[in-house]
Amino acid sequence: GFRMGIVGLPNVGKSTLFNALTRTAAAQAANFPFCTIEPNVGEVAVPDPRLDRLAELAKSRQIIPTRMTFVDIAGLVKGASKGEGLGNQFLANIRETDAIAHVLRCFEDGDITHVEGRVDPVADAQTIETELMLADLESVERRLQNIQRKIKGGDKEAVEQEVLLKRAQAALSDGKPARTVQVSDDERRAWRLLQLLTSKPVLYVCNVNEDDAAEGNAYSARVAEMARAEGNSHVVISARIEEEIAQLPPEEQTEFLETMGLEEAGLDRLIRAGYELLHLQTYFTVGPKEARAWTIGQGTLAPQAAGVIHGDFEKGFIRAETIAYDDYVTYGGEAGARDAGKLRAEGKSYVVKDGDVMHFLFNT
Ligand code: GDP
Repeated sequence: GFRMGIVGLPNVGKSTLFNALTRTAAAQAANFPFCTIEPNVGEVAVPDPRLDRLAELAKSRQIIPTRMTFVDIAGLVKGASKGEGLGNQFLANIRETDAIAHVLRCFEDGDITHVEGRVDPVADAQTIETELMLADLESVERRLQNIQRKIKGGDKEAVEQEVLLKRAQAALSDGKPARTVQVSDDERRAWRLLQLLTSKPVLYVCNVNEDDAAEGNAYSARVAEMARAEGNSHVVISARIEEEIAQLPPEEQTEFLETMGLEEAGLDRLIRAGYELLHLQTYFTVGPKEARAWTIGQGTLAPQAAGVIHGDFEKGFIRAETIAYDDYVTYGGEAGARDAGKLRAEGKSYVVKDGDVMHFLFNT
């Protein structure tokens, strides 16, 4: 599955946000009441109204949304990478994520101490990024040393790795995050295996006070500008509001949102932004037993998409019967779409599209 790590300085609202995320009615209704894998790891249902519509048409007995994992990664402070260094567990936690949600304090509150004694989300973002860059530089240099023996032994992969490590070292020594390094398509796999912290895409989460949730404020505007310049994305959220919403029954949530002048829960926006940042998309499997959403990367071929359900589906893949979401809805379900000639038989080279309703045929 896909994992998002939540980072940020102390007291910016990380725990508040994490708790809200993992306790929403959506997370609970989804048959996997917030699974505590570890105290700081939670799974969230990806909200998707299309899934409900499909289930309605197919009279599915069960609805199973696709999931995204959030990991609350506490412990980042200024100077964390010096001295004792960042803890191993901490580094492992970030390495294993696909993207980073960076929570920034965009609210003023005299009762809540800011570790630096002032509210400045852009400076905070730089503080954290600097720590992550230092941790990356240290790991790159350690690996460059360790790799020499392999290179002398004629290991071709090690030679390829050294090229990438040197490129990362040059950027990091220059104060630039690893995501600024140019990587060709051929190098991408090896690059990803380096798991550098600053090579991961970043989603800035501007945590604002209740009153600023709808429009944002001057702080979040500065973050938006920074995100644009970096090619990252941002969302404006009030973690406190989200915490309140998460505790309401679903039927009261909409009313509460309207009162606050919000169209949609911030958490839904956050999850969707994560989806976009990671270039993810959804396909569906629909029947009387269940309607279910599955997450794949954009550009995934049909056999690999089938493999998300089960490895055997990929190995024995024959073809996929596919109906586009819009056709499924327009023709009132599978039978109608089939009669209208909208059910396609797609082979191994089919690139799955967002919203496809798929049925896989495979050899066992
Ligand atoms: P963490 O250290 O980053 O995990 O921060 P917490 O989630 O524990 O939040 C620190 C404190 O800030 C708590 O007392 C929260 O209730 C408070 N807090 C979180 N978000 C907001 C906000 O949007 N406005 C205000 N005024 N306080 C907030």
